[in-house]
Amino acid sequence: MKRTGLIFEKSVKGRKAFSLPAPFAEAKNPADYIPAGFLRSSFEFPEISELDIVRHYTNLASKNFSVDGNFYPLGSCTMKYNPKINEQICAYEGFRDVHPLFPCEKVQGYMSLLKKMERLLCSITGMDEFCLHPSAGAHGELLGLMLIRAFHDKNGDGRKKIIVPDSSHGTNPSSAAMAGYRIISIKSDAGGQIDLKELKNALDGEVAALMMTNPNTLGLFEDKILEIAGMVHEKGALLYYDGANLNPLLGLCRPGDMGFDVVHLNLHKTFATPHGGGGPGSGPVGVKKRLEPFLPVPVIRKKGDNLKFDFDCPDSIGMIKAFWGNTGVILKAFAYITALGDEGLKKTGEISVLNANYLRKKLGEHYNIPFNRACMHEFVISVKDLASKGIHAIDIAKALIDRGIHPPTVYFPMIVEESIMVEPTETESKSTLDCFIDEMVQIHKEAGKNPGSLKNAPVNMGVRRLDELRAAKFPDVKWDFKTQNLE
Ligand SMILES: *Cc1c(COP(=O)(O)O)cnc(C)c1O
Repeated sequence: MKRTGLIFEKSVKGRKAFSLPAPFAEAKNPADYIPAGFLRSSFEFPEISELDIVRHYTNLASKNFSVDGNFYPLGSCTMKYNPKINEQICAYEGFRDVHPLFPCEKVQGYMSLLKKMERLLCSITGMDEFCLHPSAGAHGELLGLMLIRAFHDKNGDGRKKIIVPDSSHGTNPSSAAMAGYRIISIKSDAGGQIDLKELKNALDGEVAALMMTNPNTLGLFEDKILEIAGMVHEKGALLYYDGANLNPLLGLCRPGDMGFDVVHLNLHKTFATPHGGGGPGSGPVGVKKRLEPFLPVPVIRKKGDNLKFDFDCPDSIGMIKAFWGNTGVILKAFAYITALGDEGLKKTGEISVLNANYLRKKLGEHYNIPFNRACMHEFVISVKDLASKGIHAIDIAKALIDRGIHPPTVYFPMIVEESIMVEPTETESKSTLDCFIDEMVQIHKEAGKNPGSLKNAPVNMGVRRLDELRAAKFPDVKWDFKTQNLE
């Protein structure tokens, strides 16, 4: 049996993964109970034995990089260890087997847990109300912007612009555009923070909100935040907080206290829970009191002795997601937060900052770090100076793969040339960080002495360097059953 190839190539006509006892095997004729229009004339599924299926997927899985297998210092994406007990808890029957259409009386426990989660997130962020519905960070941003629009509309104030700093995550301007706003991008100052002069010039009566990430994507805390909040509010605009990566602030400071009116969190980054590859996420949105009336329905409220889903909210923007949100992800985050407790959360924040600064100091002896001052949970290296050797950020990334380390984020944020954005997270030990430092230092030496060797990386993997542009523009994913070829 070949170890490589598609499962379709391993298919053998008539082979089965199971043999059921007779009563089950004698299936009724589907045409007796399924209308003709819904019946298929043929099934084009691979035919393969059970063991071969297991081997196929196990071999595929072993080719993957994962947090369980490798150090994964992916800046901005916060890939940290997800305690396995979180998975067990969200697989409890009482959670797993609940259907979203069960009557509220039957799922009071589940509903009270969601309500508790709303309150926990309020206390962690300093906001007044939370909505758990959004499916991911970008979905939360869209909801946040819709709430901002509803707020201004209610005041008869048709504002049309959203300001975003040039260091912002790409989803910020995209979400603002989807919400129908014009984007005003402002340049960062020499220290990598929001430039107050630029902000002042951009802030006019047409601005609905300023979207900010704090710490920003350079990993720097925007220390003029209180002044910024004052400037924004004075113009009647609102302040939006991208809290995808809240881990460095946990238990230490809160966006609500900094003057933010709307925040979204990525439960799937800040509070563990595995993510990536389009897997399920959760991007809850928190608001201050004055935005509460616009929150999506249904809202969980106490009616008599019971919790109920309330759809009777006249100013609500409506529904943004079927049912209650991605509750599996919410449960894992709930388990994570409650297991840590107040002290544990604070430690999480502190260690994420300590780990990032340890790497920043050590790697700063070899690599150029453009904004090299105390950072929060991440920092950004520039390898612009290696360009004369023909070495770019992508080459360092590929060389790390050969050394068993998932590459950090590269080429983001875009305001740093040849950027490598490193986020170790709080779940890594000093010895893992030291191994990473060793590998990075060796790669740097190699880039000086023998740059050609890095151009070939990766050499130890199942595949070599891919044509990423072609893979993105012309993906080869379709199997043609007639010719048995990939199109
Ligand atoms: C990941 C991230 C987002 C987007 O979150 P998704 O869940 O991927 O939609 C937004 N902002 C920042 C800063 C992020 O790191």
